[in-house]
Amino acid sequence: MIIVTTAGISPDALDRLIQHVEAAGLRAHVSRGEHRTIVGCIGDDGLLSEHGLTQLEGVECVMPVLKPYKLASREFSVGDTAIRLGDPADTVVGGREVVVMAGPCSVEGAGMMRDTALAVQRAGARLLRGGAFKPRSSPYAFQGMGEDGLKILADVRAETGMPVVTEVMDPRQVELVARYADVMQIGARNMQNFALLSEVGRVQRPVLLKRGLSGTITELLMAAEYIMAQGNADVMLCERGIRTYETATRNTMDVAAIPVLKRETHLPVIVDPSHAGGRAHLVTPLALAAVAAGADGLIVEVHPDPACAKSDGEQSLTFDVFAEMMRQVQAVARAVGRECAVGAAAGGWRREVTA
Ligand code: PEP
Ligand code: MN
Repeated sequence: MIIVTTAGISPDALDRLIQHVEAAGLRAHVSRGEHRTIVGCIGDDGLLSEHGLTQLEGVECVMPVLKPYKLASREFSVGDTAIRLGDPADTVVGGREVVVMAGPCSVEGAGMMRDTALAVQRAGARLLRGGAFKPRSSPYAFQGMGEDGLKILADVRAETGMPVVTEVMDPRQVELVARYADVMQIGARNMQNFALLSEVGRVQRPVLLKRGLSGTITELLMAAEYIMAQGNADVMLCERGIRTYETATRNTMDVAAIPVLKRETHLPVIVDPSHAGGRAHLVTPLALAAVAAGADGLIVEVHPDPACAKSDGEQSLTFDVFAEMMRQVQAVARAVGRECAVGAAAGGWRREVTA
């Protein structure tokens, strides 16, 4: 149930309203907008009398929420969620800018991470990606560098100022990964690992939640709800392709999921064209389609030498191809009323290197 308050409700009346909701055994979630405040009620709605609520000072109307997700739903929030990252926190995911995260599939060493970070930053990427714990289909494939990889990410962040996004695979690793990462990634294979979702929900660190290989949009939103229900509101959703009968691409990028999600939720929507297409030549067209369809950001795999990458080389872009992709992404972003930073190579914006 959602309670819409009257414009200019007094702080005392809002407090009394929250107390009324909590006294009935429900949790009150307050979302403040410029013009109005709404109070979302979480719990058994049957315990609250709609008639009683409308008698309270400052209540304009009461509406039921029919969706299974509440905190993630648009009705529960007055505006879009914008997530601030970095130190200073000047990278905003979910604002006007299309934010690009880029880097290798896996952290393979200090030199390649540093080279990649500087190259993608120069091209306009805002965040650095790289997996230290890797979910591999084969137990014999490279499993990632573990904590050594996290330390490399932290060192490169200190040098470049780029916030880092890296995967956490196990509830027991959450505390460790949160110590190093600016954004914790939940991989596609873990979208319904409810113990992991709840654990990242208990940490105040933004989460990039990837859609499962066979996850529906509702299941993705319910997974976000698991995280938010524990108190972590900073969730970004990521469309990374779903498994279909098609074999010409690694996965099938669900472009329609982008506008569906933008309608259903206030959370930022990120698209991963690398794992969707699975081949380097597909990455730029898929990235452009994603931005045209309303994505708030992209996460793209880039490697100094894709042919020698320890994972996902076939879908990784070279530095030059990535820089060209960024120029095209910026053009499409502008065409749909967004912005996208493009680096010095293209004569545009560039963050100062702080080291
Ligand atoms: C990755 O980002 O490298 C990755 C493993 O992605 P996904 O979970 O979407 O397969
Ligand atoms: Mn990968």
